[in-house]
Amino acid sequence: MLKRTDYLTRTYGKPEGWKLAAYERDLGGYQVARRVLTTMTREQTVDEAKKANLRGRGGAGFPMGVKWSFMPKTVGAKPHYLVVNADEGEPGTHKDRTLMERNPHACVEGCIIACYGIGAHVAYIYVRDELHLSKARLEGAIQEARAQGYLGKTPFGKDFAVEVYVHSGAGAYICGEETAMLNSIEGRRGEPRMKPPFPAVAGVFGCPTTVNNLESIAAAPTAFGMGCEAFSKLSSLHHLNDGGVRLYGVNGHVKKPCVVELAVGPTLNELIFEIAGGVQGDRKVLCAIPGGSSTPVLRPEETVSAPDPKSPLHPYDGKSVFDVPLGVDTMRGVGTMLGTCCVTVIAEGTDPVACLHNLMHFYRHESCGQCTPCREGSAWLERVVGKIIEGHGSMADVDSLHDVANGIMGNTICAFGEGTAMPALALIQKFRKELEAYVRGERSLATSKLTVEPWR
Ligand code: SF4
Repeated sequence: MLKRTDYLTRTYGKPEGWKLAAYERDLGGYQVARRVLTTMTREQTVDEAKKANLRGRGGAGFPMGVKWSFMPKTVGAKPHYLVVNADEGEPGTHKDRTLMERNPHACVEGCIIACYGIGAHVAYIYVRDELHLSKARLEGAIQEARAQGYLGKTPFGKDFAVEVYVHSGAGAYICGEETAMLNSIEGRRGEPRMKPPFPAVAGVFGCPTTVNNLESIAAAPTAFGMGCEAFSKLSSLHHLNDGGVRLYGVNGHVKKPCVVELAVGPTLNELIFEIAGGVQGDRKVLCAIPGGSSTPVLRPEETVSAPDPKSPLHPYDGKSVFDVPLGVDTMRGVGTMLGTCCVTVIAEGTDPVACLHNLMHFYRHESCGQCTPCREGSAWLERVVGKIIEGHGSMADVDSLHDVANGIMGNTICAFGEGTAMPALALIQKFRKELEAYVRGERSLATSKLTVEPWR
């Protein structure tokens, strides 16, 4: 039986739980930042953060402490910056907004700790413009913290100025990519930059910058409060350097869509049936997208093949992939990605070909257009799947979907290309039968009883 934790979510649902008074009453209210700034050096802060094994909560899963250590050890002529990614444009992902709305002070306190660790005096929290309540709650928390002297020239009496600003994005999905976000903050078009240079060398305004996901930053006060090693050990995947607690979202065809906090390592079956109450109409699960639409789908019939006793997946050899703990490396091991850890559940009766078309419409629309394989490939995928759905496709078209998606992989400036191609390849491979049924005329828009409408 899964046990919920409440290190990040204790103030959720409480009257005015987003205010400083609630944060002080329930979560220690800035005492962790005070201790870090007044008793630790910058180096000690980064070394401690590494012990948390906190894998980035935004999708890539890169350890937060290691990322902090990439910043120059001393601040030279160029100032350092912290950029907090709260864009959360990934379809099916809805966890960071709960933190901003219900526990914004953890986000601000995390910014203070991170700024100190990386030697930055300014943090920008980049929030999508539509999230009006999130921005208002963050702004309110920043004002309260500033009034108490937790932000400003000498927070907690320490001669280390910290300011936090909320920066509105305009809603483009690609601005969630870290270098596109840096361009957007600078007032340029939100287009990804070539790397290198990496942000730790030349980030926002050409200065050394660390970009962290909002949930990663909000978890810092908890991790430093209990000791980062103890935080790491809360996870059942601590031995795989995947530590702590995190927010899990469940959405789609479940009875109780939700965001919950759990120790790292529940399985898909546990999330769907214990946490989210099972599938609507008590149907079977057709497939699930583990962490945002750019992660490849998994089907419950898929089993783990890990006969090597040295493999971290060996304990699950022969089991359903839905019984494997959700972790950064375990999901890689079963051919997908953990991503944002917000699971979209798709029930039996849904048309997977329509899902594919819907996803490709989204990626075609959101491609920034700089790279030909991404710009043209995503449009091709949408057009060809649309043609198949409308009954004009051929078997050669089904094969061409593979070729086009493979042509995008690894040939683009940013990971958006893979984010388009990987879910497409997984859906094409795992639901080829359904695609071919459209081609043979055994399935059509009229007969497939769609529960997800295709984009026409
Ligand atoms: Fe833009 Fe796509 Fe190229 Fe990324 S991969 S830079 S989104 S065109």
